[in-house]
Amino acid sequence: MSELSKSHSKIQQLPSDVVDQIAAGEVVERPSHMVKELVENAIDAGSTSIEVEYDQGGRRVRVTDDGSGIPQDSLKLALARHATSKITIADDLWNLSSFGFRGEALASIAAVSRLTLQSRTATSETASKVLSEFGKLGPIEATGGNLGTTILIEELFTNVPARLKFLKSEAGENAQIKATLKALAIANEGVEFRVRTKGRVDESWPKANFFVERAQAVLGATKLYSTSGSYEDCHADIAFASPHDVAGNARQIMIFVQGRWVQDKSLQAAVIDAYRGLLMHGEYPIAVVRLRVPPGDVDVNIHPTKSAVKFRDSQAAFRAVNRTLRAALETAPWLNRDAIGANEMAAKVASRMTNARSYGASSSTASSLASSDGLSAAASAKKLSIAELTRPYQASNDSAPGSQDLSFENAPLHSTARFEAPEFSTVQFKQKTDYRPDADRSNQSEVARGPTNKASIEESGETSAGPWSRLQVLGQAHLTYIIAQDHDRLVLVDQHAAHERVAYEKLMKAWLGGQAEMQPLLIPQTVELEPDGAEALMSIADELEKLGLQIDQNGPNSIAIRSLPVTIKEKSLIKALQELASEIVEKGGGFALEKKISDLCATMACHSVVRAGQALSFDQMRTLLKQMDEFPLSSFCPHGRPVSVDYPFAKLERDFGRIV
Ligand code: ADP
Ligand code: MG
Repeated sequence: MSELSKSHSKIQQLPSDVVDQIAAGEVVERPSHMVKELVENAIDAGSTSIEVEYDQGGRRVRVTDDGSGIPQDSLKLALARHATSKITIADDLWNLSSFGFRGEALASIAAVSRLTLQSRTATSETASKVLSEFGKLGPIEATGGNLGTTILIEELFTNVPARLKFLKSEAGENAQIKATLKALAIANEGVEFRVRTKGRVDESWPKANFFVERAQAVLGATKLYSTSGSYEDCHADIAFASPHDVAGNARQIMIFVQGRWVQDKSLQAAVIDAYRGLLMHGEYPIAVVRLRVPPGDVDVNIHPTKSAVKFRDSQAAFRAVNRTLRAALETAPWLNRDAIGANEMAAKVASRMTNARSYGASSSTASSLASSDGLSAAASAKKLSIAELTRPYQASNDSAPGSQDLSFENAPLHSTARFEAPEFSTVQFKQKTDYRPDADRSNQSEVARGPTNKASIEESGETSAGPWSRLQVLGQAHLTYIIAQDHDRLVLVDQHAAHERVAYEKLMKAWLGGQAEMQPLLIPQTVELEPDGAEALMSIADELEKLGLQIDQNGPNSIAIRSLPVTIKEKSLIKALQELASEIVEKGGGFALEKKISDLCATMACHSVVRAGQALSFDQMRTLLKQMDEFPLSSFCPHGRPVSVDYPFAKLERDFGRIV
């Protein structure tokens, strides 16, 4: 028997200082964990204002609050292990209303630092304080002091050199503390926070009334929009940035469950997936999610630092986040449209996605922070009317009578060679002579739009064209880009990317509405698949039919297409179906159906639309822009690339030295 196993052969209870150090290793692995525990204690005590001061990478921290305080006779108990005022029986663990519940944090911190705890309750004339030096308690002393609690930690981990070695650089630990404080502030908008480093005020977040307001203050420059929705019993409040504001990593996706900041890969994926088709490779969204579920449906006690939770129904949590956010993104609130339209749209999209399940997003609102302070709606309406006065209009009464049919396949294409630029001279002419705002307006009201938009237009009696159809088309460059202008800028639109988005949105809309137009094939088209592929596709045959895509199983590895969506080419489908089949075989059907259909639509769209290098007539270009107005997300192609690039005239003027 080895020396080691001999020495371990006798079982004995560990001395309490060793137990405390073991616990400290789990609960306060890093200084930022300690800061979190201290601030959460202050919040649990009902504080309205909390000041945190930290230094030396968090080896010195002071937290001051104006909460309930700790009675003098409980001061020592507060530092004892498994002593808590927050729960009394095991059942309480499933109905927590506080952050703390284990009574472990202060004891653990006290074991590895010099800790001074000072506190005063409302019923006490004076404050009292106690000093603990690496677990050894001193006497309780009376002292002057405000209502509430101040806790000072110094020399963290001095008595555990092994742990000191594991700390990152001072700057690294400071950054982690800062991130933790930001998260705590976002989760508790009703509490004022002040953060000091090296003696000066570093951050100050006054009490906020709305969560999105606090999130905006904490995250800084990024403009955030907010939305809420429920799925089954999960309720999500989400503050999110537009797909134009992105981050290089997923750290700006913050998830809170029951007010706790958690690292949850699945909910993070729910956020990223909601932005599908809006971000480029390597781009990550900026979003804050606050999820609430019934207390019994989530276990918050699965991790020493409580930074992870376990859901009874993780799919419901995923859907609450994913669908609520997606519905809000589909209204593209950053386009500054009138808030009512956006809300109607959000509710509509949400209700379509639920298939009559208990998705409560009818209460869902996508509103920008600016509009909640009454700024944007009125301001943008005003901006618009000025634009209308100054913008040269081009009557589009030259659209063919059949132009309601917006499919490109049916429109004749110019077979002009690449170097020809037809109609350039005519457009300049038209621009001057056809300046007839009224004629233009009446024409715009006939612009093909979805039923929702049409209804709202009639209601308001206004005929404001969308941002895309308002553009005046000037020509086509490089047989790839539509050149257009607004009153204040030149706009270049990537014709392929734009058409792709439109085709994609049409397919998705058809699928969500379950009423696609189909085009039956006289001779069914056979598609060869990998093993099990046919069965995989047949498992979602009902969903595919909603797209206008009817398939039959031919054999184990092949299917036959009986009909396809009306605007889609046969060729584009084969590859898309093969990809879809192998993905389902690989990853299973599961809940990611929406994503799969979305990918299928993106692939079909990509292969069915006008290419770069194809000459377009002015009619076709205008039709494309009009179609883009039907879909708020038109400024992104389904692969996240931008669809258009702007050149403000102000920039041109600067470049030409007209203004300095
Ligand atoms: P827990 O938070 O899990 O109860 P802690 O070790 O963090 O355990 O705190 C122990 C107890 O000390 C708490 O239950 C609470 O009664 C008291 N306490 C700690 N910090 C504060 C504070 N800032 N204000 C009032 N009471 C506090
Ligand atoms: Mg605590």
